[in-house]
Amino acid sequence: MVFLFITLILAITNLKVVYAERPSALYTSKSQMIAQWMALCDAHPEWASYESIGKSIQGNDIWLFKIGTPTGGRVMYDGQCHGSEDGGTEILYKFCEWLLESNDTLAKHILQYNYHLIIPILNVDTTARQNMRREYVLDNGTVINVPYGVDLNRNGVYRWGESGSPDPNNDYEYRGLYGGSEPETMALHNAVGKYRPEIYVNTHNGGEYMLHYLNTSLEAKIKTLKAQYEQEYNITNPYPARRGGRGGFLSADAAGSWNASGWLWEVTTWENLTPTLDEWLLKYYPRAFPVLLAFAKAVEKEPPPIPEITLQPANINAMLIITISLLTLILKFKIQKPPKNQQNSIQ
Ligand SMILES: [Zn+2]
Repeated sequence: MVFLFITLILAITNLKVVYAERPSALYTSKSQMIAQWMALCDAHPEWASYESIGKSIQGNDIWLFKIGTPTGGRVMYDGQCHGSEDGGTEILYKFCEWLLESNDTLAKHILQYNYHLIIPILNVDTTARQNMRREYVLDNGTVINVPYGVDLNRNGVYRWGESGSPDPNNDYEYRGLYGGSEPETMALHNAVGKYRPEIYVNTHNGGEYMLHYLNTSLEAKIKTLKAQYEQEYNITNPYPARRGGRGGFLSADAAGSWNASGWLWEVTTWENLTPTLDEWLLKYYPRAFPVLLAFAKAVEKEPPPIPEITLQPANINAMLIITISLLTLILKFKIQKPPKNQQNSIQ
């Protein structure tokens, strides 16, 4: 008992130390992060665009960034459904910067063969885990106080109620009044419905693993590709993938409501957060890169063929003129050039 108590005290102290290592709750503030994504996309309008998919409890926009070819294989990601968990957001920003600005052959290929749909910040109002819901007012006037907000990753529409807590005073995983009761949850649910990505990935900080909700044909394909890329880049499986998740999870909603291959990805541990973003990316980007490549490759699609030139009368005339001019030139050249035997005789 005493031992357990000491372990608990040590764990709590350790947790505080871990949080103290980062100067703030996030590496990049929410407003700065969105500004950065917009600037990146504005600089590459041929490949990127963005839109608001809805508003949060406090009326802030939830942004979706779309990068690549719309007819390509679609992979949707979100970050910070838990307000303080920015691992996925940072990794995805670096990945998209590489896609758009590196000129790397592989990056160009992914831009042509995939369409990446990224919601960098779902819980836009707060750096706390749960959202800013503070009360529900029922039709009969009853007010339910929600002092710590709702856990968006327990508020999914599909099989809501299988996970999280029904207690509005729960400060960690209150699941809300009903599935999709939160505007952030519904903004995401509707965006998945609108774009119908083949793969949906919900990112977190916390552990280093991946969960796939349902067995789809993509599950084995993604695992195989992930292993292949990890071998190619000399990375030793930092994210073991296993079946998991429950109803109410956002990955379950994308799978159950929209038929996507739904994944939950714990990108980093809390213990490994470093004081600066650069140090953290140095450690985690190489681990995450094969996973990002595997998701893209698993659903990639040939870009549409370049449309053929139709033979309009104007085009036919132009082609005739070019052909006649070319023939005239060739004939002229032949006439001017003396025959071979004549050349010899001059010598
Ligand atoms: Zn989380």
